[in-house]
Amino acid sequence: SAADKPLDEVLPSTEETPDHTLFANNPYYNEIMQKLKSVFRLKDFRQNQLEAMLAALAGRDVFVLMPTGGGKSLCYQLPAVCTGGSTKGVTIVVSPLLSLMTNQVDALQAKDVDVLVWNSETVDHGEVMRRLRGYPKPSLLYVSPEKIKDSGALKSIFGDLYRVGQLARFVVDEAHCISTWGQDFREAYQYLGTLRETYPDVPIMALTATANQLMVDDIMQRLKLRNCARFKQSFNRTNLNYLILDKKTKVIEDIYTFINTKHRGETGIIYCLGRDKCEKVAGQLRQKGLRAKHFHALMSVTDKEQVLQEWQSDRIQIVVATIAFGMGIDKPNVRFVIHHDLPKSLDGYYQETGRAGRDQKPADCLLFYSYRDYKVILKMINNPKNGDPSELASPEARKRQESQVKMVMQYCLNVSDCRRVQLLQFFNEKFDRRHCRQFCDNCSHGAAMIEQNLTEEAKSIIDLVQEFHHTGQLVTLDHCRSVFKGADTSVIRERGHNRLPQYGGGKHLDSELLEQLFKRLCYLEGLDEVSMQTNGGWHVYYLKPGKRAAEISSGGEEIRLFYRPRAPKLIKSSSTSTASKARKGKGTKAQK
Ligand code: ADP
Ligand code: MG
Ligand code: ZN
Repeated sequence: SAADKPLDEVLPSTEETPDHTLFANNPYYNEIMQKLKSVFRLKDFRQNQLEAMLAALAGRDVFVLMPTGGGKSLCYQLPAVCTGGSTKGVTIVVSPLLSLMTNQVDALQAKDVDVLVWNSETVDHGEVMRRLRGYPKPSLLYVSPEKIKDSGALKSIFGDLYRVGQLARFVVDEAHCISTWGQDFREAYQYLGTLRETYPDVPIMALTATANQLMVDDIMQRLKLRNCARFKQSFNRTNLNYLILDKKTKVIEDIYTFINTKHRGETGIIYCLGRDKCEKVAGQLRQKGLRAKHFHALMSVTDKEQVLQEWQSDRIQIVVATIAFGMGIDKPNVRFVIHHDLPKSLDGYYQETGRAGRDQKPADCLLFYSYRDYKVILKMINNPKNGDPSELASPEARKRQESQVKMVMQYCLNVSDCRRVQLLQFFNEKFDRRHCRQFCDNCSHGAAMIEQNLTEEAKSIIDLVQEFHHTGQLVTLDHCRSVFKGADTSVIRERGHNRLPQYGGGKHLDSELLEQLFKRLCYLEGLDEVSMQTNGGWHVYYLKPGKRAAEISSGGEEIRLFYRPRAPKLIKSSSTSTASKARKGKGTKAQK
């Protein structure tokens, strides 16, 4: 059966629900089916749920890897209310967030399940302890990792329960919090690594939506899972439309137009890199009449709760947030997730976009990328916070972070391969482009793609920028592009730039393609943008030769670009409204 195979060999099945004939003889099958219907009032299982439960009831350690919204909770909640198999006594569920615990406990209580919770908000410990010591015992106990780590009383009760065989199972939900590799790392989760030694006979179930193989291995090792039944399914999110766009100076305008034409009044999240940016963007959108608020780690708990509640209840439409707005965000009808800034890793990007469309209806994931963001992130990685060198990550960690953001950049720059193929490949999953059903930007206009060799043009551009640099002239990227395009402007004439040999060297190139070429050269470090403050306090970006300028201008690298002539505009400005109105009228939301 699937449960005996290593993770990598469990192929994502195409069947959504299990083939029940395979399990009918299993000793736990009947009770599971009965409880599914009577307690949880569900008709059938989703992929891997039944298999994971049967392995758990057989007393095995279980690892469940399932995308967000896939239905991980049921995998441990249902066995906890069964009486057969390895379920004797209390199932202990470790969960990292108060809100996650509260949601689940409320839902279980509404189903008449006997469940207790013990975390920093618990007022009456005595009552919880009495229930755990007495009979009948609750089916589940939700605890925070901090309580498991720090509460002597809880440890002593666990010890007592263990001795009388009343610890049914440890469940580590959001298990990626134990890994120092991820952005959700939680100190107290580390302690969970001791459970195996302290309670060697109690099976452990770990669940996560992380798709990163390194992290999965790390989690299994830290929890000391043994003879573990592993379940993995495809990480493809069929209902998410992935769109990548160049970030222009009018990005706010673009975001506003996008929301207003495709998602008027609908719920969404906008991710930004920093706290200031969140506040600024939220303010700008409010000025345009959208109900937007910011959310970041430096806000008070009350403020954060309020924003979350207003958003959950649809009183505000958009949360503009840092990645602090993450785990535990469980709103089914999120219709768009926008990355205002470049994400730091593909893993993070996948998690963040994953918060869209949990109701399985179409949703848009829009990412604005820019070479400048890329540089900002590289700088953040390599410069100590607040000038304190001890805040700097180790050289290996920095290398890893650098390579992660590089992969994001490559993902953005790759305008030919299906976004799903690219993303899933990062998670070691093969994906057939045809199954995308044209639901990503590259598939939806892939047919018209042309590959063009621009090595000569690239050399010429670098020569031009070198010329400016050597003669001490400060020029912007836009200016260089205009010169290379051969634009006839007064500035160009006054500065005599129309007499340079490279003037008009790119006359034959489409403006869109030329823009791409400059971006690519920045990314390849043939060119570099440096910011300078003007007297007025503005930051202006000037173009100079990059670290690899000499290498590229001597022809050391072939520069090829994929290019779509007459690329359809993903975002129409509001003034070209007839087309977008017609589209909206037909209700083809979230379609290209
Ligand atoms: P995850 O923890 O994997 O993100 P949840 O456990 O929160 O997902 O489940 C997401 C949603 O799917 C919940 O609303 C849950 O009730 C629903 N769900 C889970 N399993 C099933 C099932 N077998 N049939 C129908 N709905 C299900
Ligand atoms: Mg969950
Ligand atoms: Zn695609």
